[in-house]
Amino acid sequence: MKWETVIGLEVHAELSTKSKIFCSCTTAYGGEPNTHVCPVCAGIPGALPVLNREVVEYALRLGLALNCSITRQCKFDRKNYFYPDLPKAYQVSQLYTPICRDGYLEIDVNGRNRKIRIREIHMEEDAGKLNHSSHGSLMDFNRCGVPLLEIVTHPDFINEDAANAAAEVTACLEKLRETLLYLDICDCKMQEGSMRADINLSVRRPGEDPGVRTETKNMNSFKAIGRAIEYEIGRQTEILEDGGKIVQETRRWDDDRGTSYGMRSKENAQDYRYFPEPDLLPINISGDWIAQVKENLPELAFQKRERYMRDYGISADEASVLTCHKNISGLFETLAQKSGAVFAANAASSANAAVESAHLVSGEIMRLIKNANILPEDLNISTDKLVTLIGFVTGGKINRASYKETVEAVFTNNVNPENYIADKGLMMVSDDKAVTEAVEKIIAKNQDSAAEYRAGKEKIFGFLMGMVMKELGKGGNPELAKKILSIKLKEANYEKS
Ligand code: ADP
Ligand code: MG
Ligand code: ZN
Repeated sequence: MKWETVIGLEVHAELSTKSKIFCSCTTAYGGEPNTHVCPVCAGIPGALPVLNREVVEYALRLGLALNCSITRQCKFDRKNYFYPDLPKAYQVSQLYTPICRDGYLEIDVNGRNRKIRIREIHMEEDAGKLNHSSHGSLMDFNRCGVPLLEIVTHPDFINEDAANAAAEVTACLEKLRETLLYLDICDCKMQEGSMRADINLSVRRPGEDPGVRTETKNMNSFKAIGRAIEYEIGRQTEILEDGGKIVQETRRWDDDRGTSYGMRSKENAQDYRYFPEPDLLPINISGDWIAQVKENLPELAFQKRERYMRDYGISADEASVLTCHKNISGLFETLAQKSGAVFAANAASSANAAVESAHLVSGEIMRLIKNANILPEDLNISTDKLVTLIGFVTGGKINRASYKETVEAVFTNNVNPENYIADKGLMMVSDDKAVTEAVEKIIAKNQDSAAEYRAGKEKIFGFLMGMVMKELGKGGNPELAKKILSIKLKEANYEKS
């Protein structure tokens, strides 16, 4: 009989506010250890916290984007535990009144649409970092007090197939990531820990009550998360099939070894002795504030995808590449708009400008980004130069191969496209005389092939075209060459010569 996997997620997103949640220290990543600290975030007794309003604003943005209801009167709670990365020995968090509740997000995996319910989103502060060495462990409190949103889903990922379970979780995290990025509230750098996902996973027979779950932490890429899920399903299934019992615990994923190991048995809420935070006032969120945040929500990635498909006739696949990052869709939209103006001046339709820009960004630009191993957020390319090139290729000034070559030169060396094209002789030879000469030369040299073509072997055309294009060099105009070659091949005098 089959096993069924049940998964629920707890995702931490570090907010990109300028200052920390309860003090004015910077949230900047890195820095010399213990240089981004003050008495409040270092937990000096008697120092009092003051809530950063921006954190609430960011929580509202995410909650509204994820269809949550907002807790108009909420407060903070203390979660007590002793660990060296937590100087106060408690974390300020929200247990009883999370700021957002009962939302959902939708994912599409293998053609199947799923609604994943969000149980809650709450605000809390991050802890510090322990640096272990052979001499002992050193504390860095720079991350203490960096604001976090914790997003908790219901255990709605239910699958019999392990690969499917991993695919659904990854799709959900992708969607969360793009939402956080488009809302401009988190940079989602998994390597730097600014987006972290904990995987709660249990296995059961279909129809039975949920089994005992484990929580796996420490994955720093989507790929690692997928691997960790498949590993944990295998591990739990094996134990259960051998008649064993799953221990409820927190496990740490080791991506190099492709395994996880138990870190600690999982605490229950009562072990933390939560109680209302006495040093902070309750937060009253006005209806006006909520309305204002709602009104100012930016267009999200999935909404952009739908618009691109609807308004420009762009395919679903291409639309999803274009919205993989805010900078990529931003680049696309700028190009479409600017080249639209160029096209309009040329009396071509603006829909073509968008399609042409979409092909450029989702194809060549994405390939260059990948090869150069840079992140979309670090992409810096002149849109004016790209618009010039889009104008050239669609206006018949350069061919597709030269277009590609020049785009790459702009990407890598920021060349001036006009100069580059002139220097490399890429301007298309659109002079009938030059093309006719090249065609005649090739036909004269390949009379047997020309005769075969005329005898009905149409495939030969491609071969002759290749020779003509080679003869014309990089500036060859394929359309013109094709036209003249077909005319010349049909001309009777060649048959006789
Ligand atoms: P805790 O209080 O121990 O953190 P929660 O009830 O808050 O437990 O749930 C934490 C996470 O575990 C949630 O994401 C939830 O969806 C998930 N979860 C709950 N029950 C199960 C289960 N049986 N199998 C897998 N995940 C589960
Ligand atoms: Mg929990
Ligand atoms: Zn501070």
